[in-house]
Amino acid sequence: MDGLGLGTLNVATIVVEGARRHRNKTAVLTALPDGLHETSYGELWEQVRAAAGGLRARGVERGDRVAVMLPNVPQFIVAYFAVLSLGAVVVPIHLLFKREEITHVLSRSGAGVLIASGTALAEAGPAAVDTGTTVVGVGPVPDGVPVPAVSLDDLATEGTPLDAVVGTNPLDPATVLFTSGTTGAPKGAVGTHFALVEQANVCIIDLFDLREDDVVFGGLPLFHTFGQTVVMNTTLRRGATIVLLPRFDAATALALCVEQRVTAFLGVPTMFIALLEASRTSAERPPFRWAVSGGAALPSAVLERFETTFRSPVQEGYGMTETSPVISVNPRGVPSRAGSVGPAIWGVDVVIADAEVEGRIEPLPVGEVGEIVVRGHNLFAGYLDDPEATAEAMADGFLRTGDVGLLSEDGYVTIVDRKKDLILRNGYNVYPSELESVLHRHEDVASAAVFGVDHPVHGQEVHAAVVLRDGAAGTEAVDAFVQDRVAAFKYPRVYHVVDSLPLGPSGKVLRRELAARDW
Ligand code: AMP
Repeated sequence: MDGLGLGTLNVATIVVEGARRHRNKTAVLTALPDGLHETSYGELWEQVRAAAGGLRARGVERGDRVAVMLPNVPQFIVAYFAVLSLGAVVVPIHLLFKREEITHVLSRSGAGVLIASGTALAEAGPAAVDTGTTVVGVGPVPDGVPVPAVSLDDLATEGTPLDAVVGTNPLDPATVLFTSGTTGAPKGAVGTHFALVEQANVCIIDLFDLREDDVVFGGLPLFHTFGQTVVMNTTLRRGATIVLLPRFDAATALALCVEQRVTAFLGVPTMFIALLEASRTSAERPPFRWAVSGGAALPSAVLERFETTFRSPVQEGYGMTETSPVISVNPRGVPSRAGSVGPAIWGVDVVIADAEVEGRIEPLPVGEVGEIVVRGHNLFAGYLDDPEATAEAMADGFLRTGDVGLLSEDGYVTIVDRKKDLILRNGYNVYPSELESVLHRHEDVASAAVFGVDHPVHGQEVHAAVVLRDGAAGTEAVDAFVQDRVAAFKYPRVYHVVDSLPLGPSGKVLRRELAARDW
């Protein structure tokens, strides 16, 4: 193929093999308002074949791009694998994106078709009209929204179901995930079939104790790399069961995990915090056997509380969209090293480089703080049609992550913070994650975020936004607690009590949105 001498490889093989090996087993359970929906591995592949046949009848071919804007419902999984099985490329769209952002994604990716839920069409419908994209609808469409050309159900009856996955080169693009990376408009990170399949394999072989009889929590958004690869593809590759939750709220999530006997919980730190809060008013505990946190720093107090409350080890890991996503994880079977995101995964190199040196990698000695750079099978194939941005992100074959961190003698990675979230107060570096970790240790604090605000004298001032627990008198006790534990140049000078923290589409706290507020 393509003169590379490689065989074929396609992410969609995951559902083909799933149907061959586990035909009658439940692949996906979905909690919808009208009850629990169950899809077996056999049914999943039949639905994928039918949808792929319909897309093919509409002209979708190998290499074409198809956008998908759906919540965590089974149709996301069907659409994802239907597109891939044709050798076409999936372009998932963040569910919170507005018309302008969706227009950007549709035009940048050149997607000819958009598969979207009725609700998403309020914003995505006009964007599809603007870009001349054909819309395939899922579920009821609200009044006043441009009507889709066809529903996914009807489309699935239009063509001849696909017999077999279309052959693709392992290095062909499989997905384009738009990520804001540094600044400016989101860029499309291209994920290859090879990197995505290898991630699922490494997750199963090396990283997690994922067993065929596991029931895995599916509350991480599937349009984001973490949910897509580590939850969806990995669980289906293993032949286990995913319990999808279309909209995360902690009380529902906790009840669902109890009812469906969920054994593995994967989430971003805000989900761990929210689940712990929900556990204060509910005595029921799901049978969690293992848990994984990633996407942002997990305060060590939260890790400890979760392990005690839910009697399950928590493995903190680190990754990003451009690395498909996993870079490092605390190993299973041994206690997590507090504050560390574990050693690099199998086949991946992590190096700490001088962040000030441009165009090449200048490694720093062990223990020194610098920019985390990564190379290995997990790397993306660049930003879509943006060689300049790709070249800027790469040096000497390594991806510059934009994260600041260090390595221990035995190869454990510690993330200090994201380069751009660093606060510079009186010329001193202040790292928000460190302070957030201390804040979370105080019993009055339900959640907290630290950020810098421009200041005429200090350059930047350290602010903290905190959500207090019921009964907490104010922030005085919290302030004293933090001042006791961190150096004077960095403790937060200004506290803001808020009802909730602003969260991005993948559940991460948006520190920059807090910083931009008019306090
Ligand atoms: P995304 O591409 O949206 O997945 O965002 C990737 C970024 O999330 C990384 O570059 C890190 O800044 C951050 N991140 C991911 N995992 C962790 C972690 N365990 N601790 C701290 N930051 C993290």
